[in-house]
Amino acid sequence: MRKLKEVFEQNRLWAERVRASDPSFFKKLSEQQNPEYLWIGCADSRVPANQIIDALPGEVFVHRNIANVVVHSDLNCLSVIQYAIDILKIKHIIVCGHYGCGGIKAAWEDKEHGLIDNWLRNIKDVQRFHQDELDNLTSEKEKIDRLCELNVIEQVVNVCQTTVVQGAWKSGQELAVHGWIYSIEDGILRDLNICITKSEEIPNTLEDGLCFTRYAAIKIG
Ligand code: ZN
Repeated sequence: MRKLKEVFEQNRLWAERVRASDPSFFKKLSEQQNPEYLWIGCADSRVPANQIIDALPGEVFVHRNIANVVVHSDLNCLSVIQYAIDILKIKHIIVCGHYGCGGIKAAWEDKEHGLIDNWLRNIKDVQRFHQDELDNLTSEKEKIDRLCELNVIEQVVNVCQTTVVQGAWKSGQELAVHGWIYSIEDGILRDLNICITKSEEIPNTLEDGLCFTRYAAIKIG
């Protein structure tokens, strides 16, 4: 009960397998990390960043929370972004949501969930910004999937507006912020066609935000 023996056993077997394919893997990794990507994703256990992009340890710097939200008062997320940009000099920030996100569904529902409702408030704001578009969709699933996409787009904008990202662009640092969405149903990542590389590219209006691909609608037909 106290040791979770099987987890340690799995870890030992995994380390053995890695060493068997590359005997110096852990030694090289212990000397430095040099990831090119910062992944901001959902904490959902079915969306593990490294596995779904088939990346090895050391290849992606990761921050995950419920529904991949970037809030300007979240010191945890902001610190990750700053470290990734200032120290690791990563070139790409990926905000990755997923269809069927429990956090998005919970925000959509008019029910009380306790403490987490304070966090989900951020998603309810995204919903409010895009209520007209959501009202035009027919099924509940379609609305929630579209809200998953819109949440990614809004969080990309939030990343771009952080002082850290703004500062990096001002100083000429090469940095692109992307919005992607993952489907648990088929294991495939979709690009939401939002890629921002400078302040001037940040969408200013709701109309700008609406030009991004509606994968949910296409998927559901
Ligand atoms: Zn989720």
